[in-house]
Parts: sequence; structure tokens; C-alpha cells
Amino acid sequence: MTGPVTSDTRVFALLGDPVSHSFSPVIQNAAIQDLGLDGVYVALKVESPQELAAFLCGLARAGGGGNITLPHKEKAATVLDAPSSNVRRTGACNTFWLQEGKIHGDNTDVEGFSRALEAFLGGPPEGHRVLVLGAGGSARACLVALMDAGVEEVHLLNRTRERARAVARRIGGERVRVLDDRMDVAGKAYDLVVNTTRLGLEPGDRLPLELDLLERAGAVVDLVYGVGGTPFVDHARERGIRAADGSEMLLHQGAVAFERWWGREPSVEVMRMALRASQGR
Ligand code: NAP
Repeated sequence: MTGPVTSDTRVFALLGDPVSHSFSPVIQNAAIQDLGLDGVYVALKVESPQELAAFLCGLARAGGGGNITLPHKEKAATVLDAPSSNVRRTGACNTFWLQEGKIHGDNTDVEGFSRALEAFLGGPPEGHRVLVLGAGGSARACLVALMDAGVEEVHLLNRTRERARAVARRIGGERVRVLDDRMDVAGKAYDLVVNTTRLGLEPGDRLPLELDLLERAGAVVDLVYGVGGTPFVDHARERGIRAADGSEMLLHQGAVAFERWWGREPSVEVMRMALRASQGR
């Protein structure tokens, strides 16, 4: 916002744990300022799923809204009065707001991932064979986007196999196959590998996958983003594989969320410049 904070100022928040790494406040406040709107966006650490509903409903009823990040996206989907079709399809919510007295929720990760992936690949991943690592809230959004884009097949690999099975039962039908073990990818060729696990978020995390195990990876997308890239992106590039971190997805999911809250389209370029300045790029 450009003026002082007053009782009219709309308050938006990112709810999750951890939230200190997030650049959502940077990009949202840049877009709010750019359009001269009376709002402010902060990040609030919410540890317990039991506390989530109170934060979410309180912010929405006060006339604001916000985003949800890990590990609460699935829980948030259960708290809404009016879930969007992408919330119903994924069972995960990352954006909420109040409209006509009801708490609405959307999953803008679906469109954010889709827009960022198309820009990265130079077109939709139609006919692609894809390996998705992870089966949390963001994996569900990626799967819906990949199915809508017409991929041929997705292999899903997660530390907790039962969680991957539950996701596959919900999304993708016969086009999604759950792998039992990381060695199941050995010697396989994929057009695209997507990391949706949180590995890479904390310093010292191991890689989500050794790409040398594969016969081929055409391209790699890491949903994790951070200052100076991510270890998985570096690992891919060292092998001559083109790779992108989650920065563009962050921008696009944030832009769609902004439209839900304000009914106006933000400048993605303004958001990108603010993100780059914060990341020192
Ligand atoms: P989530 O629902 O909590 O899921 C976490 C995933 O990471 C699960 O698949 C989990 O496996 C896996 N995992 C956690 N610790 C692991 C470990 N030590 N070894 C192997 N796997 C592990 O989180 P989420 O919402 O999907 O988010 C995941 C990541 O994507 C986060 O880093 C988040 O910041 C990023 N993200 C980025 C964007 C963006 O716009 N760029 C958007 C959404 C998410 P289990 O099922 O076995 O626990």
C-alpha cells in the first residue's frame, strides 16, 4: 500500500509452517503498491492444523484473505464454504477470501504451475511422459494441470507410498502409475521430471532424486525456489538438462490469487522485479 495503514486496510496473510523462506509477501505487496490499493500482505507461522481454521476464517471475515502453504493445504480445503472446482479436484486449497458472506477457496497452484510450465517448455506438455516426485498438496495441483494439458503418462514416486496411491486414486485415473520404490525409475526415460517434495527447502537436504539413475530426463522443474536457485536445479544443469526452479510458478499462482482478492489483474512483471530484487538476482 502507498498510504498509511488504517482500519480500512485489507489484511492478507500466508498461513503455514515454515513461512520465513516465502517471497509471497514481497510479490503481493509489490503488486498492491503498484495499483495503489489499500492492503497489506504478511506471513504468519501456523504450526498446528487445529489452529488453521481460526486464522483462515478470522482473516476472511475481517475482509481480507490469504494463501495457504505446507503443510496445511489439504486441511484448508475442508474449512471452506465455497470451494472452487480445482479445490474439489485436488482436495487442496492455497487461496481464500470472503465473498457475499461465504469463505471461498481456490487452488491457484494449478493455473500457476500450468502457466509457468508452458512458458518454460515453450508449449503445453501434451503427450509427455512425466515423473512427479512427491504426493503432497502441490503434487495434486501439478497432476491436475498435467492431466488437463494432455500428458501421456505420469509416474508418481513418494516416500510414503500410501499417500501417492490416495492421490492417484483421486486424480488421473489410468494415466497415473504409482512407483513402489525409487529404484523403479532406474533406466527409464522421461520428457519431464517435477519435484514437488519439500527437499531443497532446508540447507543440507538431500536431493529428491539422483538423475543419473534415469536413462533420460528431457527437462526438470523444481517447485522449491530460493535465493540462488536450488540444489536439484543445479544437479540437473550440471548434467546438461534444462531446469527451472519454482519462482515462475510462485509468480503466476500469486497473480491468479491477487485477481481473486482484488478483482484486478496485477502486473506479473512488477512482481517478478520485486522477487528478483529480494533474491539479489
Ligand atoms: P506437503 O503437502 O507438506 O508435501 C510435502 C511432500 O514432501 C510430500 O510428498 C512428502 O512426502 C515429501 N517429503 C517431505 N520430507 C521428505 C523427506 N525427508 N524425504 C522425502 N520426501 C519428503 O507440501 P507441499 O505443499 O506439497 O509443498 C512441497 C514443496 O513445494 C514445498 O517446498 C513448497 O514450498 C513448494 N511449493 C512451491 C510452490 C511455488 O509456487 N513455487 C507452490 C506450492 C508448493 P511424505 O508424503 O512421505 O511425507
